[in-house]
Amino acid sequence: MPIVRVALDVPLSTLFDYMVKEGVDVALGQRVIVPFGRRQLVGLVMETGVDSDLPPERTKTVSQVLQDSMPLSAELLYLMRFCSDYYRYPLGQTAISTLPGRLRSLKPVLSKPLLNYYLSASGSAIDLHNFSKRKVVQRRILAKLKDHPCNIAQLKTLSTTAASQLKDLIAEGLVEYSSSNPSRPHPVGMAEEKAERVVAHTFANAHRLTNEQLQAVDAVEHVQGYACFLLHGITGSGKTEVYMHMINHMLKKGGQVLLLVPEINLTPQLENYFLDRFPDVALISLHSGLSEGERLHNWQLAQSGIAQIVLGTRLSVFAELPKLMLIIVDEENDSSFKQQDGLRYSARDVAIIRASQRGIPVVLGSATPSLESYYNAQIGRYQMLKLTGRAQAKARLPATSCVNINQTVMHHGISENLLREVSQRLARKEQSLIFINRRGYAPVLMCTSCGWLSGCKHCAGNMVLHLKEQRLRCHHCGYQIRVPNICPSCGNADLHPVGSGTQRVESVLQERFPDARILRVDRDSTRNKRSWQNMRAMIQANEVDILVGTQMLAKGHDFPALTLVGVLNPDTALYSSDFRAAERLFAQLVQVAGRAGRADKPGEVLIQTAFPDHPLFRALHNYDFEGWAASQLLEREMAGFPPFVFQTLLRAEGKQEAEVFRYLNDARTAAVELSKSMEYQETMEVLGVIPAAMPRRANHFRAQLLIQAKTRKAMQQFLKAWQIALDNCPTKNLRCSLDVDPLEF
Ligand code: ADP
Ligand code: ZN
Ligand code: ZN
Repeated sequence: MPIVRVALDVPLSTLFDYMVKEGVDVALGQRVIVPFGRRQLVGLVMETGVDSDLPPERTKTVSQVLQDSMPLSAELLYLMRFCSDYYRYPLGQTAISTLPGRLRSLKPVLSKPLLNYYLSASGSAIDLHNFSKRKVVQRRILAKLKDHPCNIAQLKTLSTTAASQLKDLIAEGLVEYSSSNPSRPHPVGMAEEKAERVVAHTFANAHRLTNEQLQAVDAVEHVQGYACFLLHGITGSGKTEVYMHMINHMLKKGGQVLLLVPEINLTPQLENYFLDRFPDVALISLHSGLSEGERLHNWQLAQSGIAQIVLGTRLSVFAELPKLMLIIVDEENDSSFKQQDGLRYSARDVAIIRASQRGIPVVLGSATPSLESYYNAQIGRYQMLKLTGRAQAKARLPATSCVNINQTVMHHGISENLLREVSQRLARKEQSLIFINRRGYAPVLMCTSCGWLSGCKHCAGNMVLHLKEQRLRCHHCGYQIRVPNICPSCGNADLHPVGSGTQRVESVLQERFPDARILRVDRDSTRNKRSWQNMRAMIQANEVDILVGTQMLAKGHDFPALTLVGVLNPDTALYSSDFRAAERLFAQLVQVAGRAGRADKPGEVLIQTAFPDHPLFRALHNYDFEGWAASQLLEREMAGFPPFVFQTLLRAEGKQEAEVFRYLNDARTAAVELSKSMEYQETMEVLGVIPAAMPRRANHFRAQLLIQAKTRKAMQQFLKAWQIALDNCPTKNLRCSLDVDPLEF
């Protein structure tokens, strides 16, 4: 009987062999249900026609072949193998974790009877030119149906609200439907759609490109096969416009385009922006905010080739895209592209691998490229594309300056200078944004008598004071208690909040400007799914005078009335033990600065710091990314940090401190031994076992061991060999993980 090799979601690094009953067809990349121990599991067929080493009597048989979805391509299976290998994560778990949730479950995905929608007699009689201009989505639906009947999947690519708008059209008698019997499982209508697909599409509102933009677009259009481009342009320099032209080019050739964006940027606004620019192109999004059903649906639209543009967050880098011709990674330096658990992949790096395997271009865009990418562009591994000016002549970059907090009057963390600027904005009816990367009222509560601090009893950190809710909350483990009335240690009633968070800033501002409309935007105030959207609408409608927010507010949003950005407390990043902290701060400050003065009003950025002469602030003041990056790279080279070395971090945590360290020390001994062998001499460096930055979290002790290599290749070889030793170190009661190219320590 034929044997297939199956990937299963179990923490073992092997695949599993199963027999296939006579007469049953199993294709590569198909999902199957197989017995595993006493359970049944969903697996993915990674190899067919296998010669198994197992004796036939011990080989189990595939229970069911799932025919509900098209098999995955060999290309994608290869990518999974690569990632499993590179990130040292079991192949089965890698493969299964990249699938949409519905495809991981034992239940076959149900294809609902699909309905075909078409125009009724009165619908056909409508002249769209006279149709209400305000009903944009309805108009789009009618226009599409005028072309040909559609199913709901096709209509949903027009807008996220297509389903409800369609209902209205049916209620008005403009659209009718009939049930069609799908000849194929979900998604149906594919073949017809393909046949009807016209390559021509509308590209709306295209700007005449500047020379620099033109060069960038040209470079990508003319590349043959794989190439990696770094598009470096300040905020407002027209990167998005460049993406649009590149996308347009690939769509004309009949290709699919994948645009990866940071988690927080994928909003309905972004989708709508794309729909405006490409009104008759099938566009879908893939992100964690979708329901499982929507996610599967969109994923299948990508897989079938119907979706022409896929907007997605990191996981969408694994979406099946048979006609993929271009990948764009926007804000490539954003840390949300790195997955922090399970398969710890970097979607940016996987995008590059995927493009090179497929032989297509990939474009990394940013105002502040990661030093890794910037370095790669400098040594010629990537091709640098630069946009040096703002696209719209009248838009000017905001002026950035510092306030020395030791030489000015401070009001609970806000300087007199900043308050003065805010009051001027209030008088001019312009918006201000106060940026502070700490939520809550104050990071810690202190006893003035005995020095007691509100530490978390489960973690090594402090509990944050949330005054509105009257709680002390640990942001690491979630533990919370009521704010005590007296010091738990000495009974003193005088407890003081130390430092500031968003809530405190909000209340200080409210006290100073009682008439101002202040809006706080952080994870606490936006917990509710819709609230952030509503807040955005308020900001855009100019119903807010002062915004107080965390990094949620820093990214990619366009607030035309905003002319002042105040930055509180950036200093901890300047002298952090994390060598990437300064790089991140620079990127973040450029990003918040980019919020100010995007329209015709010039913007201003005021940074409160104790170190106004720090090179980072000087570089920021001059918008000198090049100079800043050069000095950072020099420091990194001297200190032996990435991108000049390649790192892997072994983490361990457990309830018994001794066990954690015992494991890591054993692992270290093995690594040191290995690194002494001929192959690795002088290429590998094994550092010491040290406690993690947060040494205790949720009652678990945490520690880590860092390994460095001179080349990626040496690291990969070393990890393979080391893995064998690691598998032999007992890990009972411990949680251990390898993080290849770690971003956080
Ligand atoms: P970025 O993505 O780099 O922040 P955008 O592409 O959003 O920049 O462009 C910033 C602004 O400039 C937008 O309003 C955009 O419509 C406009 N713009 C972009 N390219 C051009 C151009 N070639 N001519 C005129 N305006 C442009
Ligand atoms: Zn006390
Ligand atoms: Zn805690």
